[in-house]
Amino acid sequence: MTDDVLTVVNPATEEVLATVPAAGAREVDAAVARAAAAFPVWRALAPADRARLLRRFAERVEADGEHLAALETANVGKPIAESRDDVAMVVEVLHFYAGAVDKLRGATVPVAGGVDCTFREPLGVVGAIVPWNFPVAIASWKIGPALAAGNTVVVKPAELTPLTAVRMAELALEAGIPRGVLDVVAGTGPVAGARLVGHPGVAKVSFTGSTAVGRQVMARASTTIQRVGLELGGKSANLVFADADLDRAAAAAPAAVFANAGQDCCARSRILVQRTVFDEFLVLLGASMDGWRVGDPTDPATRMGPLVSAARREAVAGFLAAGMGDPGGGPVEPALQGAVPSGPGWWFPPTVVAPADPQWRLVREEIFGPVVAVVPFDDEEDGIRLANDTPYGLAGSIWTRDVGRAFRVARALEVGNLSVNSNGSVRVQTSFGGMKQSGFGRELGLEALDGYTDVKNVFVATEA
Ligand code: NAD
Repeated sequence: MTDDVLTVVNPATEEVLATVPAAGAREVDAAVARAAAAFPVWRALAPADRARLLRRFAERVEADGEHLAALETANVGKPIAESRDDVAMVVEVLHFYAGAVDKLRGATVPVAGGVDCTFREPLGVVGAIVPWNFPVAIASWKIGPALAAGNTVVVKPAELTPLTAVRMAELALEAGIPRGVLDVVAGTGPVAGARLVGHPGVAKVSFTGSTAVGRQVMARASTTIQRVGLELGGKSANLVFADADLDRAAAAAPAAVFANAGQDCCARSRILVQRTVFDEFLVLLGASMDGWRVGDPTDPATRMGPLVSAARREAVAGFLAAGMGDPGGGPVEPALQGAVPSGPGWWFPPTVVAPADPQWRLVREEIFGPVVAVVPFDDEEDGIRLANDTPYGLAGSIWTRDVGRAFRVARALEVGNLSVNSNGSVRVQTSFGGMKQSGFGRELGLEALDGYTDVKNVFVATEA
């Protein structure tokens, strides 16, 4: 990858898929200028017309679904079944926010001397900085609510995976969305991404990526008091209590950490299991990993593809090196490990480390690969303490048959998204986002619209 070209590679074959000119500061400035010019037109559209255009956009994405899914699989290496789900979600997101356009109501507030009301005003140009793990889905989480609220958007996809974002912008134009309302600048993070951050023409940056880069984004945004939404890393815990349906918990656990080859901010990369059922759970987990097929991502039966890049595979493998587990010991010996295809591709097997010590680096740091640590805990208090013993706070799961415990633990965990007797974190209708160093701001659900509007208060004196 040079400074002026992005070389886009298939992680399963290591073949070059495309070369894309890399946007520099000038291209970003031009896209921001187009978005700024389109803003007054877009926000002034009658709500029903803006909603209709978003629905048409959703229909164009649906019609192009197989193509988009194939692009995503070729570029990210994720199984085609997952890419189809991701694209289906994009369609649902666009329909959901199309439905919200004419429901963005303000309030009337009882005050003395007049009438007071509020308006939910769009911010202006939104910069959307997107990672490579769910390129098209995460782009839509930002595009949908931002456009619905009347903003215009410049998307900066990850340099490894720009193809579906570029296609989305074409589909928006085909749907009749005016030029400039949705633009894509494919470029590197330090050049194109950094240019959007603190840009005087960009009212908000919605960033999804690593906590390290999120920190830089937040600092730089302060120069123009730019609004920021930050969806960052995670080290989510899957808490399995002794009273849980262990068969179900174990059957669901692999998908919660190995889906997308573990390159998921919500990956349950720590499984905390109550000590009295620890051994039993491990046996069940081993059995459920048998069905976890790693291979050609274009095969609909494949559960897991390769990692996205050689650098990612090296980073993930590094978590099994000496020093990542027992500080005095040698390389980490997995308790369970799956198989991977030979030949080209950046494969890494599904890997279980058990029992793991909560102080080990591989238990504390985000791995972003198919490696899970299984840690025993003693009782409810101990489980909560371990689950919260991390700077991250994105997602988590609680497996128990005791409904009182489910709510007690849910309230005690310092995370933005929890599931009980399930590992699902993301639904179009419900808010998604982190606590602590997993970031702030919410995507999806009606809550996302709050992040793309400012509340304006208007008082009208009515006294004669
Ligand atoms: P990353 O932070 O390296 O990159 C994310 C995006 O930021 C890319 O588009 C990149 O080009 C851009 N970028 C990089 N440097 C930049 C800079 N200086 N200024 C502006 N933009 C810059 O992250 P990644 O490796 O692509 O993604 C993995 C990380 O993303 C993981 O930590 C993961 O947990 C996190 N993630 C979080 C969520 C969530 O919703 N919380 C979702 C997916 C991924």
